[in-house]
Parts: sequence; C-alpha cells; structure tokens
Amino acid sequence: IQVSAPASQSAPIALSYELFPPKNAAAEATLWQTIRELESTNPDYVSVTYGANGSNRNTAVELLNRLLTETSLRPLAHLTCVGNTADELAEIISELLDHGVRGILALRGDLPQDGPAEPRAGSLAYAQDLIELIRRVEQRRSALLCAGKVAIGVAAYPARHPESPSIEHDVEVLLAKQRSGADFAITQVFFHADQYRDLVSRARRAGVSIPIIPGVMPLTSLRRVQRLGDLTGVEPCPKLLDSLGRADDAAQSRRVGVKATVDLARAALDAGAPGIHLYTFNEHAAALEVLNKLELLRPGRPQLGSRSAASALA
Ligand code: FAD
Repeated sequence: IQVSAPASQSAPIALSYELFPPKNAAAEATLWQTIRELESTNPDYVSVTYGANGSNRNTAVELLNRLLTETSLRPLAHLTCVGNTADELAEIISELLDHGVRGILALRGDLPQDGPAEPRAGSLAYAQDLIELIRRVEQRRSALLCAGKVAIGVAAYPARHPESPSIEHDVEVLLAKQRSGADFAITQVFFHADQYRDLVSRARRAGVSIPIIPGVMPLTSLRRVQRLGDLTGVEPCPKLLDSLGRADDAAQSRRVGVKATVDLARAALDAGAPGIHLYTFNEHAAALEVLNKLELLRPGRPQLGSRSAASALA
C-alpha cells in the first residue's frame, strides 16, 4: 500500500473503504456481499477495524486473512495499542505480517470508559509508540518481508481530538507520528469541509508532508449521525441534523444524507484531498451511491501506488 500526494490535478484519487469484523454468521454473510460489491470498484485498499484492547483480535485476523486469500483486495489492518504491552503487540504485528498484511493503521484506541485510572504497567501510551514498535518489528524481520516496507497509516483530526488541549497540539502529534515513521493519515469524520482544509494547511505549515486522506461516512440517518457524534466526540452539523430530522421517511433521509456526504467529499477533493476513505458500516449501497455521484466509479479506475503495493505483496 502506498498513498502519495497527487502530483497534479489529474492525479488519480485514492479510494479506500473501512470494514469491521462481523459479530455473527448473518453479519458475515452480509459483509461478504458488501466485499464483493466493493471489490468490483477496484479500491486501493480496504481497512479492517480492531477493537480497543484487542477485543475482536481473532475475527479481525480471520477477516484480513480471507481478504488476502480469497479476494484481489489489499487490506490495511487497524491496530490499537491501548492496554497492551510492547511484547504483546509485537506478537500481533508479527502475526499480521505472517499472514501477508503489509499495511497497518497504527492507533492508540479509545480509553476504556470504566477501565482503571492508571494504565497497565508496560502498556504503550500513544499511537506514536506503536508506530515505532512496528518499525522495529519490521526491521527485525526485514529478510522475511522480501520487498518494500510496511505502510503505516495514522489518525488525524479535523475537529480537535476530544482529549487534546488544542488543534495546534493535534498537529504537533501528527508531526511526531510522521517523524516516527507514518506514511499517511486518515481523518476522523468531520462535518465541515473547512475543518479538513484548515487541518491540512496547519499540518503543512508545521512540516507534515504525508498525505492526509479525508474519512467520509455516508450520513444517511439521523440515528447514525447522532451515534457518530457520541462515539467520536465530533459535534454533528446542526443543519444536517435538522434536515435529517425533518425527512418524512427512510428514503428521503437517505437522499438528504447522500447529498450532504457528496457535498462534503467534493469540497474536500476541491481542497486538494488525495483520496477518499469511506466508512462503510459494512454496507455498500450508500457508499457506492456517494462515489457514483462523485464520478469516482469509472471502469478500469487507475489505482494509486498499485505497483508498489503489488511489489510489497509479492
Ligand atoms: P494518539 O495519536 O496516541 O492520540 C491520543 C491522544 O493523546 C490525543 O489527545 C493526542 O493529542 C494525545 N497525544 C498523542 N501523543 C502524545 C504525546 N506524545 N504527548 C502528549 N499527548 C499526546 N479506534 C479503535 O478502537 N479501533 C479502530 O479500528 C479505530 N479506527 C480508527 C480509524 C480512524 C481513521 C480514526 C480517525 C480513528 C479510529 N479509531 C479506532 C479511534 C481512535 O482509536 C481514537 O480516536 C483514539 O482516541 C485516539 O487514537 P490515536 O491513534 O489518534 O491516538
């Protein structure tokens, strides 16, 4: 996986999707329908979430393995470090590399709400520590990796991270993650394109040069948008909440939500975004509708960095 900043206006737009490991057999069947639909759009990669503290480690690894062996898709494995020691995480990283994973989204994970006040002794505190650990594991195993290096993605925040004292601090953290070896960033959800544009310009001024890909979620229902706000600490746009709340039925709510999502993604692309990362909720229909309206579903869509990804996977 390699995501590069576009060299010109005509550079291809990187396209990626987020999936989460299924919780039961019915969810797994739906997910695989989604995967097949998304595969036909030739994305640059699909990411697979990971529960904080490794709560779904087995299902995540199983899904990554199936993506690698049964599809043409390149997976990006989310990995969280909160609550885990370096030794435990080194074992998980090695397991991912053994399966053939060559892209990891290095995250801290959300702190447990009802967890102990003091972190577990020896556990990694920040995503930056995890990036450094991945690079150390990679170095130890470089002879086995054959070609290329592991691509490391990180989280970035257009609206302030809820625990951060300021948006300036967020950019310092992003710069530190780049210095530790991050190759690209994917943003948390946001509701105003200005927030994405401002993050990128603050980051560039501070010396962050890695691509910052906007994470976009189809905002197709009031319940989803409200839940999203609760989960991420990002304040939903009141205008959008109002429009979704006034929708007569699910179909109208979906139309309103798809339009808002398309407008947001288009504005981010106009601001120079090198790609779009779609949080799919394991559903393909709304994601594909958004991409279709953005005219990003061309047949034979060229992929960004596919050559280097292919060599990394060889
Ligand atoms: P960090 O970069 O470590 O930042 C965490 C906090 O610590 C921030 O407030 C930051 O300002 C502060 N900080 C960081 N470094 C330092 C330092 N050196 N000194 C002082 N303060 C510091 N969560 C999951 O559990 N599973 C997932 O699969 C998942 N996927 C995600 C995908 C994306 C694209 C995004 C944007 C988020 C995802 N999350 C996921 C949520 C993420 O785990 C939370 O947002 C978490 O609260 C912070 O993670 P981080 O990697 O940004 O942490």
